[in-house]
Amino acid sequence: DAEDGPSRLRQRIVAKGSNVPPHCDTFNELVERYQMSTLLLSNLTQHGYTHPTGIQSYGIPILLESRDLAAISPTGTGKTLSYLLPVIASLGSPSSSANSDAGAGVRAIVVAPTRELAHQIHNECLKLAQGRKWRIVLFSKASAATLADKATRDKVVASLRSGGLELNNVRHLILDEADRMLDSEFFPQVEEILAACSHPTIQKAVFSATLPAGAEKMAMQMLDDPIRVVVGLKDT
Ligand code: ADP
Ligand code: MG
Repeated sequence: DAEDGPSRLRQRIVAKGSNVPPHCDTFNELVERYQMSTLLLSNLTQHGYTHPTGIQSYGIPILLESRDLAAISPTGTGKTLSYLLPVIASLGSPSSSANSDAGAGVRAIVVAPTRELAHQIHNECLKLAQGRKWRIVLFSKASAATLADKATRDKVVASLRSGGLELNNVRHLILDEADRMLDSEFFPQVEEILAACSHPTIQKAVFSATLPAGAEKMAMQMLDDPIRVVVGLKDT
């Protein structure tokens, strides 16, 4: 059913953790429940996102309630929007004087294992942010750094150390395709980013299609009282 969005049917969804917030059946509900801006809602519909996918209907309320999240959902089920929408909604308006965080530097960071993936995430983010003057920056060397050559990785880590990339006001940290960054030779670089995100209130979430035991254990160490959502595709 094309109208239902990608892989929305035949899914089995399990959410575990303390005080799991109710899932949403429509994007509209987010406006009522969480005062999500109608601009974001119209950006969604304008880009053909009429109904939330399974991971979106569970993941978005969890992140909007400032909870940590481990989300496991198959490829193509819309994980990107599951974190970009609540992060952008939580940040509020870039120009609002009511928002004391405005102008405070980097407030959210998404880490992805390849340049190509980072590029796709950046494009999704630009779509959602249309109509507002967000500064959305693709650190292509940073994104490539986790899997690219050592020289590139060292450059990124050096820029963190020299204060070239201030992350001490980051309130949302997302690891996408987390199975490729946790429990891998690249984890030391992830750890450096984590360490640079020194603000006491930081929401963390990991997204992945699969989370093998080793990576899962590392995710659970990183997350604070997380909710774990698993989406399984039922056999057709
Ligand atoms: P994943 O990260 O889980 O592999 P993506 O976030 O890359 O999935 O999304 C897969 C595709 O589905 C993308 O083309 C995206 O634009 C589209 N998509 C995501 N959410 C929706 C939605 N709610 N309705 C329609 N299309 C969607
Ligand atoms: Mg993805």
